[in-house]
Amino acid sequence: MNDTTASTDTLSAVNTAPTISGQRELVSTMAYLARVLKTPTIGRCWEELASQARDQGWSHEDYLATVLQRQVADREANGTALRIAGAHFPQIKTLEDFNTDHQPSLRRDILAHLATTTWVVKADNVVLLGPPGVGKTHLAIGLGIKAIQAGHSVLFDTATNWISRLTAAHAAGRLEKELTRLRRYKLLIIDEVGYIPFDHDAANLFFQLVAARYEQGAILLTSNMPFGRWGEIFSDDIVAAAMIDRLVHHAEVLTLTGDSYRTRSRRELLAATPAAPRN
Ligand code: ADP
Ligand code: MG
Repeated sequence: MNDTTASTDTLSAVNTAPTISGQRELVSTMAYLARVLKTPTIGRCWEELASQARDQGWSHEDYLATVLQRQVADREANGTALRIAGAHFPQIKTLEDFNTDHQPSLRRDILAHLATTTWVVKADNVVLLGPPGVGKTHLAIGLGIKAIQAGHSVLFDTATNWISRLTAAHAAGRLEKELTRLRRYKLLIIDEVGYIPFDHDAANLFFQLVAARYEQGAILLTSNMPFGRWGEIFSDDIVAAAMIDRLVHHAEVLTLTGDSYRTRSRRELLAATPAAPRN
């Protein structure tokens, strides 16, 4: 069927009284149009919504808007799901599941601002510092998901894996290409800087990543080490200082404090468990 036939068919289908054969024709025309327009949701929902519209007396405009809204909602949900899968988060954690009562020093207004993801658009950075178990990775994933829901592409990995990736690219003589390729991600998440120290070459590669992103693309980085000890992580005070300089120039630095949430939950659980009855 060519386009001319399709539009003639459509017109005739729309203008024909809804006889059985007219309805059949309409169904096949709608299936064809939904396929050509690549709007499968419309193909699935137009008929059911039409009968709902008739039952409830919707205007033509309301019906059209509802059908289109369904398609847009599905397309956005599919895009989000694809980008979440592509980000390689180790788990799915949401900001909504983050208990801010456990982090009284964490400013909620700043967190709410970060959740809007305007910093991602501006290629600013976020640095989350604090001891193990306080929720750095949870917040990093939660903010990453917010960025994805706002339509941005995100890539998550641990610092050690980032170094492996860059080392492999460097060894293959395509470091520049890799750094350029990474620009397609609006946000890179680098988790766990500091757990494993880097040698001089690794530190240099890491510096190149941060320098390549500077004012070009956002980085969200987590570390268990305060900036004052980054010289130890990167085995070089000067490289560490140069990196911190670029990283924090346009950045929100949040320091999380307190006990590990993991051990706290365990303690609360133990406290809530009634003592075994004595005989
Ligand atoms: P970190 O990366 O700082 O070591 P994680 O983000 O891995 O800590 O947190 C450890 C565990 O505790 C995770 O399962 C995380 O979801 C949970 N957690 C930590 N802080 C909170 C919080 N404030 N609210 C809810 N869950 C939390
Ligand atoms: Mg972590």
